[in-house]
Amino acid sequence: MANRMTRSLNTLLALGAIGLGFWVLPGDSLGFTLLGGSLDLGQRDYRFFNNFTDPSANSNTVPDPDFPGALGAELAIWKGAAEWNSRLHGNGGTDSNHPDGIGSGVANFDSFYTGLATQVGGVNDNTASQISGFSGIHAYLEFPIGDGWRMRFYEGPDSWQDQPNPIHWTGAFQWDIQGTMTHEYGHALGLDHSSVPGATMGQGTAQGVNLRSIEADDIAGLQFLYGPLSTSKPVIDTYTLSNNQVTLHGQNFHATNNEVWLTQRVAGGDGTPIQIFGLASQAGGTELTFTFPAAAKAGEVSVKLPGVANTDLSAPFPIDPQMEPYYHLPRAYGTSKTTSSGTLPVIHVLGVPSIQHGTFELVLASGPTFGQGIVLSARARNNMPFFGGTLWISGPIERELVFTHQFGFAQLRVPFPDGAVPGESRFYQVWFADPGDPQGVGLSHGLWVTFAE
Ligand SMILES: [Zn+2]
Repeated sequence: MANRMTRSLNTLLALGAIGLGFWVLPGDSLGFTLLGGSLDLGQRDYRFFNNFTDPSANSNTVPDPDFPGALGAELAIWKGAAEWNSRLHGNGGTDSNHPDGIGSGVANFDSFYTGLATQVGGVNDNTASQISGFSGIHAYLEFPIGDGWRMRFYEGPDSWQDQPNPIHWTGAFQWDIQGTMTHEYGHALGLDHSSVPGATMGQGTAQGVNLRSIEADDIAGLQFLYGPLSTSKPVIDTYTLSNNQVTLHGQNFHATNNEVWLTQRVAGGDGTPIQIFGLASQAGGTELTFTFPAAAKAGEVSVKLPGVANTDLSAPFPIDPQMEPYYHLPRAYGTSKTTSSGTLPVIHVLGVPSIQHGTFELVLASGPTFGQGIVLSARARNNMPFFGGTLWISGPIERELVFTHQFGFAQLRVPFPDGAVPGESRFYQVWFADPGDPQGVGLSHGLWVTFAE
């Protein structure tokens, strides 16, 4: 306890001065600095004790489908930490102040929100809460962090705000919970203050709203501590439900020994997530099925591989046991048939397939040199030998588009099926002529596309 310190002095400089609209650290222009230490996989969990007293701290009643089950200050706290995660939280949330999405870290770092706490907790309990009074600063973090941390938001003279959009704000004496959390969680994971203007760990304005989005200097500090994002990390792309069975769809799951983490249903506990141990994966490490436990609730889900490396924990994915994701990014599955020229064709969607646009853009690359092709679609996936390759779609198959490609490349506008609704999934595959192939047929991998509004 004697070594216990707080980030209060520097926080005074940073957040206190942010309130005044300026902050200069003399002679320091190197960018990010370190607090000492980092968070191992046993300290990635965090909790929130919702004792904020300002009515405006818990006035947001608009749910965000990428952060299910949380409103008010809890939603703001969760979003603030999630910004440091290695990839978008679901589709990145619906935050007009952060249109490129929440989850910008691109490092081997991911947090895990375990749920609400019932008390302030000890100095190593990884819990955020309000503290009464005011000392010239808005919030502080108690460290060293290696064995855990505690975060306090001063009640203060300003009112805490949970709004996703500051346009609704009514006055100057207001402070943003989400932006402040993003900054303080940067301390929790090991960053000290930066001298780079605009960095979340540096200077802030606009009542902390502009701290919500981490910047290049923050990402550089995060990558220094945890390493740039590795392709070996497990990834959750989406999930499907069948009664109480959840199937996670993703990549790099362990063959026999995965751990699943979920957000706790009942407030309290010791901060450990709800865990399921020893799960085997299916479909070559791309699927993981488990029964949603009664002790868990809508929140987030992560997969942890055996081991203690930063690459052994996936980014959390939002999960609601009552419904499948309204939308997820288009997801490739299966393998392409090698063309007669030795290439592996790739198809992907450009941007968000939004029904209101009437069509979406599908790109074919690495096909045979030139020829004709057909975009096919169906309602279900498949895995059936077909013309020397694999048919990846099943059920009534629609011919969406006939096209001519050149140099193995085509950029196509694919119409949505009649009556398409937001959240509907369809599965696509491209068939093309390949005169050099013994059967004259080329086949892409499958592409799972969920339609957006
Ligand atoms: Zn600070």
